[in-house]
Amino acid sequence: MIIVMKSGAEKREKDEVLKRIKELGYTPHVIHGTTRDVIGAIGDERGKLALQEIESMNGVERVVPILQPYKLASKEVMKESSIVKISDTVSIGGSKIVVMAGPCSVESEKQIIECAEAVKRAGGDILRGGAFKPRTSPYSFQGLEEEGLKLLAKARDITGLPIVTEVINPETADLVAEYADILQIGARNSQNFALLKKVGQLKKPVLLKRGLAMTIQELLMSAEYILSEGNQSVILCERGIRTFETATRNTLDLSAIPVLRSKTHLPIVIDPSHGTGHHLYVSPMSLAAVAAGADGLIIEVHPDPERATSDGPQSLKPEKFAVLMEKMRRVAEAVDRTI
Ligand code: PEP
Ligand code: MN
Repeated sequence: MIIVMKSGAEKREKDEVLKRIKELGYTPHVIHGTTRDVIGAIGDERGKLALQEIESMNGVERVVPILQPYKLASKEVMKESSIVKISDTVSIGGSKIVVMAGPCSVESEKQIIECAEAVKRAGGDILRGGAFKPRTSPYSFQGLEEEGLKLLAKARDITGLPIVTEVINPETADLVAEYADILQIGARNSQNFALLKKVGQLKKPVLLKRGLAMTIQELLMSAEYILSEGNQSVILCERGIRTFETATRNTLDLSAIPVLRSKTHLPIVIDPSHGTGHHLYVSPMSLAAVAAGADGLIIEVHPDPERATSDGPQSLKPEKFAVLMEKMRRVAEAVDRTI
């Protein structure tokens, strides 16, 4: 249920409502809107009608059911798009489109710093790089782990770019959160509910990727796991889904942008690198993503893709990335956004 408070409701009245929600066995989640607060009362769907009595409490405008199975992620709970703050200067979800870029994996100090400087020079906002890598083969490079996190932190110190890096299990989530500005949940883990709950309890924004065979509704249900644990800073990422097509690594579902936009207030990021699997296809799909209304992009960039330990074929060289940034700026302008 959603409890819509009157604009100008007093704190005392809101506290009474929060207390009553808890007494009825539900968990309140306060969402601060521009003119009024809205409280999501989340819990057992079967007894939710008991919450209707709250409508008669002081300061309450109305109590309405949330029809979707995802509640806090739903647009019903918040009409305006949410803006996720990453640092003092970077937020995702506003009119500025945020570009995250960097290598698939952190490989060495030289590689990550070279990359970070190139991303910064081209006007990128956030540095990406995997330290813990979920690889299809157990014999492939698994990442530099904590050493990789330290190198990312060093690159952040040098360039000022916040960092996004993947967390692959609950056991290492606290460690990753000590270093990262955004915790990435990878496609293979996006229905790992224990991990989703864990990052829901951490105080760091989460970039949640869509799984290889996940519907949009399932993606929103995964977001709900994080939100319902109390972490409101969730960013959704479409990174391609598996279809019958083999000419591209995945099929990048750009229609997910307007579909998600109609269903959720959460920011939407596109990953054209994993979405296509080939560097030649990354630029056209990035431009299309900007045109279709993405709030951000995450793009793999590597100074020497031929020798990359992972995902070299889909990584852009820094020069190509800089050219793409320029083109994206022009498309962004055409759709009343900036980059
Ligand atoms: C990655 O970002 O390098 C990655 C492994 O992504 P995904 O989980 O989308 O495959
Ligand atoms: Mn990758």
